[in-house]
Amino acid sequence: MKILVSACLLGCNCRYNGEALESLDLEGFEVVPVCPEVLGGLPTSRPASEIVGDRVLSIEGRDVTQAFKDGAKKALDIMDKEAIKVALLKESSPSCGANFIYDGSFSGKKIGGAGIFARLLTERGLEVFSENQLDQLKARKNE
Ligand code: SF4
Repeated sequence: MKILVSACLLGCNCRYNGEALESLDLEGFEVVPVCPEVLGGLPTSRPASEIVGDRVLSIEGRDVTQAFKDGAKKALDIMDKEAIKVALLKESSPSCGANFIYDGSFSGKKIGGAGIFARLLTERGLEVFSENQLDQLKARKNE
């Protein structure tokens, strides 16, 4: 199964703070790594951002909504071009969060919700899993 994966789940140091996460073991999948925020033109490292109402704001108060939307659209275009219907995305990110996001107060509190890219995929009827749903994704592959 071909899947799109948040690049930071594959050890890329594209996270806002430049830290690399341990790579997930995705043996058996054909993986296309993408970082929507980098595609949107944001640098690494960059200030933390959170969704506040219908905007995305950096911790410094800069409105980065357009960069997040542009990156989400470019990442979706890659999925379309590669005929990918399933994504594995980093939970809680303002772009990639599949089930949870930070609440917009920059206090570390999470709430139910999805990031800008994850929302776009769901609206398009594409399947989204987080790294916490890896077992479900592997079960889906074997269907
Ligand atoms: S969570 Fe998404 S946007 Fe953030 S670094 Fe990972 S791939 Fe990029």
